[in-house]
Amino acid sequence: MMRLSNGSRVVIVGGGPAGSFAALHLMRFTREAGLALEVRILEPRDFSRPGPGGCNKCAGILSSSLVRDLHTLGLNLPDEIIQAELDTYILHMDKTEFQIHRPDSEWRIMSVYRGSGPRLGAPPFPNTFDGWLLDQARESGVIVQRARVHSIHPSPHPLVITAQETLEADLVIVATGVNSRTPLDPAWGYHPPRSEVMAQDEIFIPTELCGHCVHVYFDYPPGLIFGALIPKGRYANISLLGRHLPPGAVDDFLDGNDFPALFPDGLHMLCGCTPRVAVTAASGYFADRMVAVGDAAVTRLYKNGIGMAFITARAAAQTAIQRGVPRRDFARGYAPICRGIVADNLYGRLLFSLWGITRHIPFLLRAWERAVASEINQPPQRQRHIRILWGMFSGDEPYCHLFWMSLSRSALMNIWKSFRESKHG
Ligand SMILES: Cc1cc2nc3c(=O)[nH]c(=O)nc-3n(C[C@H](O)[C@H](O)[C@H](O)COP(=O)(O)OP(=O)(O)OC[C@H]3O[C@@H](n4cnc5c(N)ncnc54)[C@H](O)[C@@H]3O)c2cc1C
Repeated sequence: MMRLSNGSRVVIVGGGPAGSFAALHLMRFTREAGLALEVRILEPRDFSRPGPGGCNKCAGILSSSLVRDLHTLGLNLPDEIIQAELDTYILHMDKTEFQIHRPDSEWRIMSVYRGSGPRLGAPPFPNTFDGWLLDQARESGVIVQRARVHSIHPSPHPLVITAQETLEADLVIVATGVNSRTPLDPAWGYHPPRSEVMAQDEIFIPTELCGHCVHVYFDYPPGLIFGALIPKGRYANISLLGRHLPPGAVDDFLDGNDFPALFPDGLHMLCGCTPRVAVTAASGYFADRMVAVGDAAVTRLYKNGIGMAFITARAAAQTAIQRGVPRRDFARGYAPICRGIVADNLYGRLLFSLWGITRHIPFLLRAWERAVASEINQPPQRQRHIRILWGMFSGDEPYCHLFWMSLSRSALMNIWKSFRESKHG
């Protein structure tokens, strides 16, 4: 029987958000089931080290849905982890600018550091979100080991091999993301998701610019899908997503969007990395006694990857404890959740394509702009366009909700009214 029982060993490979969430969910479900497992996370990084070596390289925006989900595990983000509360997205286009304010004050989104801040930052170094999550796992009874896994073999029970030891597991959870080679032996039939390269850096921001607004740009450099400036305490993160971004894309982005004018004392780059972001799902992401979670399995297109790490880790842990660990149990209990994320991403692609088209048609863009402006003083339930843009850029709501909202009668009427007004105004 492929079920976990008292004393069974679960090895989690990777201690980023997906690995820590998997461990925390496992501990919660085993407590509820009256089981006692050995849960072990293997993670090579030291998250207290500033710079890319101690960091899982991301813009670090936590969606409000994730912040609420954390409470279900009894986790409250300490103030020292939060670098900024974000309440406005400012969308910069060639000749215009949209301000999208948080539609509901309950929807708290915030920025965090995944590691301990930029490589060339100055003390005191910011606190790390990934390190804090690992500590929460450790405090709940999980064994956390500093080790890189070289390979994982199927055999009757999975064998997890590091430079120091070989661990036999009753279940192996793969949470290695998409920024390193998978340690899964080809015999598992696992193929990682397709990914795209992003470019990131960090800058100091003058005190008067420290704030609560994320600035989003679309025009430079060529190939950019979007670029964002995200405040994080006394620094700001710059994250660019695009196709075939050239080396030096961050410099081109800053020059092309007139940043030097905002920084008379000069712009100093403090870090710099080119991480990958997953844009499709993996295949073969579960098998007998093996399941992949987080980016290594599937994530939301472009936004809220950490929130998806939470959701996939919960579904995998719940399936393992409440159903079992054979392939067919993961197919019934886990795969439908992952397929739901894949289906939602199709709506995401449609929304981003629609947004791309709108940006290039001046009268449509003006109508959107007016529709957004006319909603500002409306109650949240009538702020259709604000919610759509807020949801797309913050990752706060499923793309499918946002897509159907954009086709709702009230949203289309609002655009039509704004279009007529802009024609006559
Ligand atoms: C530029 C950029 C900006 C982003 N911005 C955001 C954002 O603002 N908000 C958001 O929610 N998401 C964002 N994401 C997505 C987010 O980073 C990921 O979805 C999230 O980190 C996935 O978590 P994970 O635990 O699956 O993978 P990761 O965070 O990549 O963690 C994987 C872990 O596995 C470890 N590991 C790898 N190989 C091995 C091995 N062989 N043995 C042991 N350990 C191993 C690594 O050291 C790492 O700690 C962004 C991504 C990029 C690239």
